[in-house]
Amino acid sequence: MSTVIEKKTLEPVSTQTPEPARQTPPAPNVRREITGDMICLITYDRPDFAANVFDRKTLEELGEHLGFIETHSNLRGLVLSSAKDNIFVAGADLNSLAKAKDPAELRDLIELGQDTFNRLAALKVPTVAAIHGACVGGGYEVTLACDLRVATEDKATKIGLPETQLGIIPAWGGSTRLPRLIGLPAALDIILAGKTVPGRKAHKLGMVDAIVPCEKLMDVAQQLVVEGGRKPRGHKRPSGKKLFALNNRLTSALIDKRARPGVLKRTRGHYPAIIKALEVMTEGLKTNVARSLEMEADAIVDLTKTDTSANLIQIFFMQERARKLDVVRNRETPRMQRGAVTGAGVMGSGIAQWLSSRGMDITLRDINAEAVARGMDNACKVYDQGVKRRKMTVPEARQGLDRISPVYEPVPMKRAEFVIEAAVEQMELKEDLFHQLEDLTSRETILATNTSALSISHLARNLLVPERVIGIHFFNPVHRMQLVEVIRGEQTDPDVLHRAVKFVQQIGKMPVVVKDSPGFVVNRILMPYLIEAAVLFEQGADIKAIDESMLEFGMPMGPLRLIDEVGVDVARHVCDTLAGPCKLEVPKVLGRMLDKKWLGRKTGKGFYLHKGKRSEPNVDDIKLMRDDQAANRALSQLQSRMVLLMVNEAARCLEEEIVEQPGDIDFAMIMGTGFAPFRGGPLHFADTFGIPRVVREMNFLVDTGERQFRPCDLLTEMSQANKKFYPKG
Ligand code: NAD
Repeated sequence: MSTVIEKKTLEPVSTQTPEPARQTPPAPNVRREITGDMICLITYDRPDFAANVFDRKTLEELGEHLGFIETHSNLRGLVLSSAKDNIFVAGADLNSLAKAKDPAELRDLIELGQDTFNRLAALKVPTVAAIHGACVGGGYEVTLACDLRVATEDKATKIGLPETQLGIIPAWGGSTRLPRLIGLPAALDIILAGKTVPGRKAHKLGMVDAIVPCEKLMDVAQQLVVEGGRKPRGHKRPSGKKLFALNNRLTSALIDKRARPGVLKRTRGHYPAIIKALEVMTEGLKTNVARSLEMEADAIVDLTKTDTSANLIQIFFMQERARKLDVVRNRETPRMQRGAVTGAGVMGSGIAQWLSSRGMDITLRDINAEAVARGMDNACKVYDQGVKRRKMTVPEARQGLDRISPVYEPVPMKRAEFVIEAAVEQMELKEDLFHQLEDLTSRETILATNTSALSISHLARNLLVPERVIGIHFFNPVHRMQLVEVIRGEQTDPDVLHRAVKFVQQIGKMPVVVKDSPGFVVNRILMPYLIEAAVLFEQGADIKAIDESMLEFGMPMGPLRLIDEVGVDVARHVCDTLAGPCKLEVPKVLGRMLDKKWLGRKTGKGFYLHKGKRSEPNVDDIKLMRDDQAANRALSQLQSRMVLLMVNEAARCLEEEIVEQPGDIDFAMIMGTGFAPFRGGPLHFADTFGIPRVVREMNFLVDTGERQFRPCDLLTEMSQANKKFYPKG
């Protein structure tokens, strides 16, 4: 349809206090136009930023435009949209939330949003949101106040309410309006998990009423206004009767009662926002919208006072920092298009798959045809999974796989912009490979290694151009783990470092820049923790108790199970490399397990007996391997011993300037190991626990003869000076 005959552009409403005459007023965040059909188009377009967000100014501007519509009875309706490429509105401005330390200030901002969206909901004319790109948090809440929502089927469109992942709840009407739109069970599924879903899924759930190709978005939205805001054919919203069945007092009480124990079990009480969201949504349905909105506001004000929400919001900022990190400022960096991966094992095939899925042409090399074929098979499996999970279409997967060229002979790679070596973890073998790569590639090609713990500087030392060697350390499984450690060797050229960081960002991963040192950051901090878990086991602690104590702390997996998953052989190898630098001894049990070929999940036997997806502690056999006389310890004791060692190693990384700032370590540990996100990382945890207390507890253990607990100098000094890693909190 073509209802836009001509556009009458009205002056945008200024919400600023008058400026001196010569200065141009700042461009508005929200524009208004009137079409020839007398439809008001409100467009978000925050100047100088790639993303639209809701802050006070944007809300006030929207309020002014709503005032215009309220007083112009000749308008037929309203269409809300965005002028950004791939973003509708990316949510509330978290800076405003984080900065609003005073609860009254925060409440004021929440109420401003609620009032503005209530005014939108109360407009007498049909209102339609035309959604393309990220439409999350406050961005989706504003659309919930519209009569209808139409979204594009484009990949960039993602819709949802992720607030609980930030330790808060949707409080601009999301917790109130979503259950009233799609029914309580489906709304809980979105809000409790903090989910965002693609446009098609959102349509299936009733979160949007129509799904269209990008080029039809505005036409369809305006047509829906012209048709009076009636629900379009094919919408999936539940009918009034069905909604009543899903949302009445009895069912909501029942759902609350059923869901609560599951949530508490899953979160172990560490994520209060999820329980709060459940409460507000179920209780909110028993009352009217106004009262439910008050409950939302009370809940978010309470939740923002918690450390959990401060830590989770902090992680969001850390992720943003990683996505935008620049080693050399304002340097244009061309996008990389082709490269090679050497070694087609677990990591090499995973890396090749990921890079090809991002549009790069990749040569994948291994020592023989079978090894390359296995690698291609692995890559194919990841693509298949992507199709099954609807992350990509069959043609996209096929094209991706076609971009990988398998080879098993050394071939010239003069056009490759980078090579990532992911062969077996042996220094001599990697050194030989790098000599070979020097001849096969051009001088500009970045030569990267995916080594877990070997020295980048050592690897580069005998090469003709050592400046182009760098570590680009992916985590397993590559397609799931977002963190990549970028390791600068002693001779790495800053420009190579810059290009490597941009490369990691280009492929949608998050870089953390690390100085070359054994184990870099993540493996180095993880290793003392895994070693202590094995030591505790040797001393007689129960397998389940060791793992349970760390699950209780908030880790996603217990340490002994992690050793089994990684492989006892791999864990032992990394232990051998790191035990010296970490001043620890490799526990004997790992060697004994290796002798018996108990390698963990891959052989079906390790600390656990693995049968399919099920695992049980390997109690009988494993008893032979330890001193069963020793007394078991309380869970809290087990936990504090393992955590203290992580904190100590994290502080030593900072002491040795392996990274620039404490935030890099906390970020790497959360993203690389799943370190209890609500605790904000090991150094954040140390601040909250109290550094003097950390040092006291460690010294107590040293006094009982356990030397591995000696606190590093930095911790001792900070304890004496009563300093914190994050002085501003
Ligand atoms: P893997 O054993 O699965 O694969 C290694 C591959 O390298 C094999 O296919 C082997 O045939 C091939 N290879 C051996 N010599 C070669 C040569 N001269 N040229 C080309 N290919 C050769 O090992 P992986 O787990 O994929 O680990 C690869 C690298 O990544 C190691 O340095 C490892 O430390 C590191 N890493 C592993 C993990 C992990 O969890 N597995 C995580 C991060 C980093």
